[in-house]
Parts: sequence; C-alpha cells; structure tokens
Amino acid sequence: MDDLVPVVSYERASADKAKDEHTVADQHEYNRTNAARLGWRIVRSFSDNDKSAAKEGVVRDEFEEMLRVLRAGRLADGTEVRGCVVVAEDRLVRRAGDYERFVDAITAEEGRVFADARGPKDLHSEDVESMGLMGAVISRMEVKKMRRRVTRWHRKRAEKGELPNGYRPFGWSPDRRTLDVTQAEAIRRAVREVVVGRSLNSIVLDWQARGFVTTRGNAWTPQTLKQLLRNPRLCGWRRIKGEILTGPDGKPVIGRWEAVVSPEEWEAVQAVLDARRGKQFGKDGVIGDLPQDFREHTYLLTGILRCGRPREGGTLCMAKLRVTPHPDLSYHVYACRSKSYGGCGRLARRGDKVDEYLTEALLAKLEEKAVTAPEVGPWPKAAELEAIETDLSELRQHWHRTRGQQNRMSHSFYFSEVERLETDIAQLRSERERHQVAVRRAQNDVTDLRRRWFSDSDDDRLDMSQKRTYVREAFHAVIVHPVGQGNGSRGTFDPSKLEPIWREG
Ligand SMILES: [Zn+2]
Repeated sequence: MDDLVPVVSYERASADKAKDEHTVADQHEYNRTNAARLGWRIVRSFSDNDKSAAKEGVVRDEFEEMLRVLRAGRLADGTEVRGCVVVAEDRLVRRAGDYERFVDAITAEEGRVFADARGPKDLHSEDVESMGLMGAVISRMEVKKMRRRVTRWHRKRAEKGELPNGYRPFGWSPDRRTLDVTQAEAIRRAVREVVVGRSLNSIVLDWQARGFVTTRGNAWTPQTLKQLLRNPRLCGWRRIKGEILTGPDGKPVIGRWEAVVSPEEWEAVQAVLDARRGKQFGKDGVIGDLPQDFREHTYLLTGILRCGRPREGGTLCMAKLRVTPHPDLSYHVYACRSKSYGGCGRLARRGDKVDEYLTEALLAKLEEKAVTAPEVGPWPKAAELEAIETDLSELRQHWHRTRGQQNRMSHSFYFSEVERLETDIAQLRSERERHQVAVRRAQNDVTDLRRRWFSDSDDDRLDMSQKRTYVREAFHAVIVHPVGQGNGSRGTFDPSKLEPIWREG
C-alpha cells in the first residue's frame, strides 16, 4: 500500500452544449493528473452523462452513489475514501440543491479533502470567498444564498475596520494604509474644488497634465475621478451595499488606514455630486436633465437584449429593449418600445433578475473557458513524462539486478542512457511547471473578475461601462422570449425564456 490519500473523482458531460468538449474521459484524465500532483489516489470514479439523462426527474445515479460513499467514508468493498476531485464545481451541479448536498456529504467527517482544477479547497472552512461558481445552471436562490454568505464574510472583516481587498487605491502607498503625500494632496484639493463648483473634467485635465494615472495605469477620466471621490475610504469609512458601514453604536466604523479628508469634507462633496446626478451643465450654466441614451448606460444590458415576441407572419420582433422608468418600482424594467419606435410594445421583463441571471451566465462561461481553454487545458505531455520516468526506473532496476553478471549492460551504455532520459525528464518537468503557472494565471484572472464584479466596497470594483464591455464581448445579443400572454409578464421571471447568443471563441 502507498500513503496517498484515497479519493473519488466525479465527471459529468453536460447536455447543454451541442459539442461538449469536456468528455468524461478528458475530465477523468485531468482529475487523475490533478490527484497525483496533490499526493492523492483515485480509488473509484463516478461519472454521469446528461445527454442520456437530461429529462427532468431522472436521477443521476452515479452522483447519488458518490454522495452515499462520501457520507460513509468508504466504498462498498470497504476501501477508505477521504475526499473528492472534480475539474470544476459546476460539474457537481445539475439542479438546485446539488452543491449543498455534496458539501454536506463530503464534510460528514473531519479532514476530508476536495480539489478542482484551481487546486485544493477546504470545504470544512467558513472561507467561502473563493467559492467557485456553480454555473449558470444554478438556481437563482442558490446564487443569492452564496452571495449573502460572501457578503457576510466581507462584512465581518469590514466591521473590524480591516482593509478592503484589492489594488492599491490612488492616494495611498503600496501598503494601502499610509498616504502617498503627493496623490493625497491632489485628492484633497480636488475635493475642495468640486465643492466650490469646479468641474470634474477640468480637474482631470489638470491631473493628466501632472502625469497622474490610476493605480491600474489608466488615464484619469471624469468617470473614474467621480468614482474616486465617491469612495468613503477617503475619510476612513466603508460603504457596503450602498450604506455606510456602522458599528453597534450606530456610528461609522473607522477603518485602519489614514484618511485623506475629514468625514465632513467627504460628505460635502457627495452632496455636490448628488445634486449633479443625471444632470448636465448647459452652455448657459443652467442645469438640465441628461439625454435619455446617456443615462441608459447605467444599465447592464441595454443594446444587448432583443424582443423575442413573434410578429404576425412568424418572425420575431427583435427590437432592442429599452429601460423604461417606473417610479413606483424598486427595480428597472427592460421593455420593447412602441410601434412608432420600431418595436411591438408588448414585452417587458424585470431588469434586476435579467441582469443577475445573465451576469452569472457570463461569469460561468468565462470560468469554464479558463478551466478548459486549449492553451491552458490539461498538460498534453503527462503520459510522455510518465513513460520516460518508467523507462528510467526500469533501466536502473535492470542495472542493479544484473551487476556483476556476465550479460550485464555496458557502463557507457547505461550512463549515456540515464543521462539522456534524465535530460528529457528535466525538460518535461520544467515544461509542466510553466504550464501549471499558465493555468493558475488564467484561473486567477477570472476569479479576480468575479470578485471585482460583485465588489460593493473594494477600490477596484468594475464600473458599469467596464461591465458592459464584458457583456458586449460575450454576447451578440440575448433574445427575451415572452413568458405568457399579453405584456403583463414583467412580474414573472423565467430564465429559460432568455436565449443568449454567445460570441463563440
Ligand atoms: Zn417587441
């Protein structure tokens, strides 16, 4: 017996793609390599094929069997099982509740191990920040539950005044606690000048002339400057879910970093920016409302969503959905415009739900891509390396067995062969190392994107225009099909009525 940790692997071929590249065999090969690297040994693999079991109500036999094995900690023949390895967590999930049941089963005993292509993860721990995506297949409720847990974790940290995650914010030193004197002074001046009426644009021009760039190396724009000035971090506070974080005494929690301005100064600049919201300064200095299509960019999916209601004759309406103002609703509504604007005027959908669902679908797609992208997929030479390692070990054994015998191999042959094999092995191992670095980098990028996408308080959160860029890169369009009769369907939300048209690549 060896001392490798006995684990099971799980593979699932999904039915939701015409050509699913992740065959069960590919996933198994990946899991085997991954387990070996971690010092684990697969004692049994379970696999399901959704193509043959896609019907509602069909039980995934192998998945259910695996849950029983994990709960028991052993196979039917008594072989011990101490964990599980999969390519990605979304493989575990086919319908609501699957992931929770899996976590329950695997954590039935202490010390269980789990890994996906990103590496091992402690499912016993409360650290769910790194919890991967369970895919667009996950039910909305589960997504919300997961996000609440992540939020709670962030909040706990924030209530202790700990630093938000993320990049160094402009104005601070690389330690993110102490101020960068020059940048902090520039922010302080900007705050005071905005309060007395200077435009963001003219401050940006000034900053550009002084050679300031954002900490991500981009040129300042009025939008990013406004984002900076909106950040309560400037006065030592945090905002979470749109609210300033307060302690048990009802007062704002003071973060453990140096502030640039006082709370009074920061609040003054907020008041000025609030007054300008949705307005613009006309040439005559009069403040007026911004034109409609400018304001629309505060929504994620305008220009992407198209109306899927059939017209007479059978073709779809396909007009772009616009956001209609609904003062009595707490959410926005995407709606097809009236006939005079080229639509049918007979389709509407809750915007918050559509945004949430398609965001998950988009991130799922990117995450799946990161795990399976051809250039960073499983290392293609694993078998070759293993074969050469076996050759070398056999050669050595043969050499030792036959030493002193008549028919032994010659020294020169033995040593030149060993040297040749060792050189090949060293080269392959360094290739494998480079490959693993590439895999990790690709995955970190997507993990970081997810964090920045949902970040409520971090300094490097994505703004709407950045999110819209990802959306445009991912979808040609998303067709919104009617839910029922009439146009009163905005209260109903059914993700199966959304048809994403992906830009493949
Ligand atoms: Zn329409």
